[in-house]
Amino acid sequence: MDKRFPLADQIEMLGSMIRGSVIAPSHPDYDALRLVALAQFDRRPAAIVRVRTAADVATALNFAQATDLPVAVRAGGHSTGGFSAADGALVIDVRELNSIEIDTDAQTVWAGAGCTAAEVTLAVEKRNLIVGFGDSGSVGIAGLTLGGGIGYLVRKHGLTIDSLLAVEIVTATGEILVADDSNHADLFWAVRGGGGNFGIVTRFKYRLHPLPAFTGGPLVLPPTPEVIAGFAALADAAPEELSAIAMIMPLPPVPMIPAEAHGKLAFVAMMAFAGAPEDAQKALAPFRALTTPLADLVGPGPFSTMYMFDPPAEMRSMVSMRSRFTKVFGADEARALVDAANKCTAPMMMAQIRVLGGAHSRIGTGDTAFAHRGSRFMVSFLAMYGGGPDVIAEQERWVGDGVAAAAPVSEGTYVNFLGDGEARGLAAAYPEATLARLRQVKRRYDPQNLFKLNTNVTPA
Ligand SMILES: Cc1cc2nc3c(=O)[nH]c(=O)nc-3n(C[C@H](O)[C@H](O)[C@H](O)COP(=O)(O)OP(=O)(O)OC[C@H]3O[C@@H](n4cnc5c(N)ncnc54)[C@H](O)[C@@H]3O)c2cc1C
Repeated sequence: MDKRFPLADQIEMLGSMIRGSVIAPSHPDYDALRLVALAQFDRRPAAIVRVRTAADVATALNFAQATDLPVAVRAGGHSTGGFSAADGALVIDVRELNSIEIDTDAQTVWAGAGCTAAEVTLAVEKRNLIVGFGDSGSVGIAGLTLGGGIGYLVRKHGLTIDSLLAVEIVTATGEILVADDSNHADLFWAVRGGGGNFGIVTRFKYRLHPLPAFTGGPLVLPPTPEVIAGFAALADAAPEELSAIAMIMPLPPVPMIPAEAHGKLAFVAMMAFAGAPEDAQKALAPFRALTTPLADLVGPGPFSTMYMFDPPAEMRSMVSMRSRFTKVFGADEARALVDAANKCTAPMMMAQIRVLGGAHSRIGTGDTAFAHRGSRFMVSFLAMYGGGPDVIAEQERWVGDGVAAAAPVSEGTYVNFLGDGEARGLAAAYPEATLARLRQVKRRYDPQNLFKLNTNVTPA
């Protein structure tokens, strides 16, 4: 690029060099396209490049380096640190890389980095196949996979990265590589948990798992410490077909919930059983026997019904979030979870436990850049709200205090749940040995740290 031209002209020129499009601040779609899922991140990038091919990504990266524009990468836009938009940055938006190519015989799928979890799930479940993502259909597969991916199949099939077979990735120099176990194995190790530090992934190849039958949905229980501790012990000992994400939260005003319970706190356990219906009933019976449920909406259905409870996009709010991995979740921790939930002042909150173990724990700590394989639970606090800096500070404090009380013996933090500028984020997300190895891979593939708008691993 000829730096004598004004930046706006150079940005316009970029549009003529790619198959996709460039959205500058003057474009009518700019305001809609710059928005990300979390309302507190209201950023104004220099331009948004909507790439359509891996070659477009390479061109955009060369352009960013020639013009000294910082690079932000955006897929589903759900970054909890607000990394997928930045003031004055060149946002490389992969949402139009949304192809889904299923090989039913080989039981694999190549999915474009712009796909959401719901899009891939709906496409593969029609063939009785599945790959696990998270609890929310609108989250992008890209950010989720690059951080690990903890969802409703975690005990049966592990993290999302445990089903990842390969990535197509554009490196800082614009090289388009396929990384897998045999090619660029160091890079393939790093992208399985190391985030967007090493290049821009354009496609992910996943192993698909047969899913002939599925039973799932919310089991709504009273939010007492006894019920919650009992639930955690049962879920930890349950067959691996059963995974659960369970949380204290205010009940929404929906017809399936008795009217007198609307708005009150309850323990909503999202149960997911990947297996035969009769086995599901057997595995669910002890949970149903814990106490009289306030509502029992667990039933057979396609896996994608688990996404039915996603809040609609127009309910976009500010979100504060913290997590901790732990081996211990017993009576004291359950009591702390309940106490903290009762102190929340946000209109919507979740004090959540995810039960790990199973396939997640059979992968070695050093086998992927996600290293928290020995942990049995992830405890997370989320507050959803609106307001100014005082409100943000109050909710940030609540999520931080809550997670510290309910998971006092912490084994680290989930990189995909790190908040904006969270202190010690990187050190808590990766053990020392993992971080040292990530920094070596970074030096090899991105020595100038072009990809730094993320939970940043600096080159060794
Ligand atoms: C409501 C909500 C629910 C969630 N539920 C879960 C859950 O159940 N399980 C779970 O594991 N996580 C969950 N998450 C966390 C989620 O996985 C992360 O926020 C993830 O980063 C979002 O990915 P995205 O593509 O939507 O976001 P984006 O904001 O688009 O991307 C996040 C970051 O990932 C990197 N990135 C994105 N695309 C690429 C690419 N193509 N190449 C290289 N780097 C890229 C960039 O650094 C980017 O800033 C949830 C988050 C939210 C807000």
